[in-house]
Amino acid sequence: MTDEPKPVREIRINPVVPTESVLVATARGMRPRKAEDTVQRDTRPHVDTCPFCRGNEEKTPPAIRTVPEGPDWAIRIVPNLYPVLGDDQPSTALAFGLQQVIDGYGRHEVVIDHPNHGIAIHEMSADHLALLFRTYRDRMTELHASDPRLRYVLVFKNFGPAAGASIPHSHSQIIATPVVPENVQNEVAHAKAHHAKTGQCIFCSLIDEALTFEATIYDRDSGAVRRKIAVGQYVVERGEHFVAIKPFASRYEWELHILPLKHNADFLVENDERLADFGRVLRRAMARLDHVIGGAQYNFFLHTVPYGSESDELAASYHWHLEICPRTSIPTGFELGSGLFVSTISPEDAAAQLRAVKLPDD
Ligand SMILES: [Zn+2]
Ligand SMILES: [Zn+2]
Ligand SMILES: [Zn+2]
Repeated sequence: MTDEPKPVREIRINPVVPTESVLVATARGMRPRKAEDTVQRDTRPHVDTCPFCRGNEEKTPPAIRTVPEGPDWAIRIVPNLYPVLGDDQPSTALAFGLQQVIDGYGRHEVVIDHPNHGIAIHEMSADHLALLFRTYRDRMTELHASDPRLRYVLVFKNFGPAAGASIPHSHSQIIATPVVPENVQNEVAHAKAHHAKTGQCIFCSLIDEALTFEATIYDRDSGAVRRKIAVGQYVVERGEHFVAIKPFASRYEWELHILPLKHNADFLVENDERLADFGRVLRRAMARLDHVIGGAQYNFFLHTVPYGSESDELAASYHWHLEICPRTSIPTGFELGSGLFVSTISPEDAAAQLRAVKLPDD
């Protein structure tokens, strides 16, 4: 791209969750904002005092699952030492007026993503990432089978202090709750309403739009249309089964979503072959982010159809996905007070910058 992107000033409504919106206000020549807290990442492969490093297994409670079994594990799941939810409490849900209060019943587990202390997601192999998501899938299935009171299992990752990670060793978390989290309920409700109105899955429609967007190339001198090309304006990375897109309206400037190309509401039915492709798409998307914003601190979380509520309607209207939210700025009073997120780079420009990164094939 030789032309400077045109400044944009508009409020965009998230089509999936219309209560979320973003003010896109770009200025000419604006540089991408880097993480404000650029802390030097700890890249040491092993740290003797780290409870998550290989060889220090006795520093954590006994593992719930080790993949593969044995001292040369690649991934370990352990109970969280400081759980926000415990399994020793009664499971009655109480509602007081508009405020729903639930007690602290549930499960809280830590997934040690990799034996290497300082490794980042984009430095892990695609095969390792596929194994990680297979491990999530299997543990989620096991949790649901073990306790029918658990309505939702949320998998998420905080990477870097700005994203809330308290231990530098790469890890993710699993929280199982007796209620479906509100963010998921919102998405499900809007997706259902959209499906009832149009007969379409809103996520499938957004993917189609992202893949087929047409650009017009004009002749510089005459101004005549020279050709039209489908550039996939919001597509950042595409695999055989999965696509990484930059949403048209997203809370975080460098936010990316990875979704199955073919409609599927339920992460738990993804097979190993498809997750191998997912691992490649995730690795490449994260490598692009690392190139453009450098040392990204981020959160990711997995949204799938709530377990046990599968109806034909829900299976047709919802579409599982991974949301990746890099933390490049701290929300200000304006954002907290208005609920309107501010983005100083347009999603189109962000996607173009990420796409332009040259990565070796894998
Ligand atoms: Zn470690
Ligand atoms: Zn769909
Ligand atoms: Zn979502």
